[in-house]
Amino acid sequence: MRITVRDEEGMNELGKAISGVLAEGDLLYLLGVLGAGKTTLVRGIAMGLGYAGKVNSPSFSIMNIYDNNPLIFHYDFYRLGACDIYDLGLEDYLERDGIAIIEWPQMGERFLPEEALRININLIDNDYEKGRIVEIHGRGGKYLQKIKELARNVDTCY
Ligand code: ADP
Ligand code: MG
Repeated sequence: MRITVRDEEGMNELGKAISGVLAEGDLLYLLGVLGAGKTTLVRGIAMGLGYAGKVNSPSFSIMNIYDNNPLIFHYDFYRLGACDIYDLGLEDYLERDGIAIIEWPQMGERFLPEEALRININLIDNDYEKGRIVEIHGRGGKYLQKIKELARNVDTCY
């Protein structure tokens, strides 16, 4: 699924729409260069899930937990190497009751589950001032189902 998102406000709206298909136990990967809008999208998703607090990049803390129902585990692996991610013992976290959202999952691909909702955020014409093209793919049974649901709930342009 490909969605054009014109600005930060649109990114929040898309996040809210995505939140509508999420449930406890879901795993999301967010990919895109620095400044693509990954954290902005997490902010929209968290809002959509009912979280009213602050959402900031956890690049120094590695993980933020947002006290919400469902709980939201927000990771950023940008500063980590693959072995650091292995050492985190991530399985324990990812199996906790909540929704896990990971920025820069490619840093620890080998240690992360294959099955997830995978969201790629691309710049348009390599220009940070322009909008973004967001591509959403599902890997694994329940995520393929979510993609179908998303196709009904999400616009093609925000
Ligand atoms: P990342 O987490 O990918 O590094 P951030 O979400 O922290 O990126 O920052 C993205 C920057 O781009 C913010 O300044 C935000 O206002 C802007 N932005 C987010 N989404 C869009 C969009 N769809 N179009 C244009 N600018 C955007
Ligand atoms: Mg970020």
